[in-house]
Amino acid sequence: MAKSPSDSEINEAFEKLSKDAEKSGYHLNPDSGFTKDLIRSLLVNQDRYGYQACPCRLAAGKKAEDLDIICPCNYRDADVVEFNACYCGLYVSDKVVKNKLPVKSIPERRPAPEQRKNQNENAKTAQFAYPIWRCQVCGYLCAREKAPDLCPICKVSSERFELFG
Ligand code: SF4
Repeated sequence: MAKSPSDSEINEAFEKLSKDAEKSGYHLNPDSGFTKDLIRSLLVNQDRYGYQACPCRLAAGKKAEDLDIICPCNYRDADVVEFNACYCGLYVSDKVVKNKLPVKSIPERRPAPEQRKNQNENAKTAQFAYPIWRCQVCGYLCAREKAPDLCPICKVSSERFELFG
């Protein structure tokens, strides 16, 4: 059974996530009680699966199948642009922070399992002097032999990059 994180673990994770988000141009939901509840669930998932699966989605429990919903998920940026918040409401737009806009419920953007499988199978292979790597979370592109260990924009790890062209 996954262990329940302590308040100090949640607070520590909250501080770190909050700092990292602001440094990279993102915002956590200013409702700190709500945000800490989500962070608690992320820590529970970390203990349960070994990675921070999205608290609002059903994880398969296999990392390769859940990569797109490891927080921050591949759908965060598009949802924040379109709906002012990610699916769970953990990340929000400038407008929510500055104008104190309420966060409404966000429709699920994640494709159905069969579509996700097809997308992976149709992934393009590199045809340039260097492979082009695309961060699936924020869209950052770079041309190099290997994907960077860490995305310089949104800080996700190399496994969240795909070959772009
Ligand atoms: S960014 Fe938001 S929607 Fe995506 S995994 Fe994290 S909490 Fe869930």
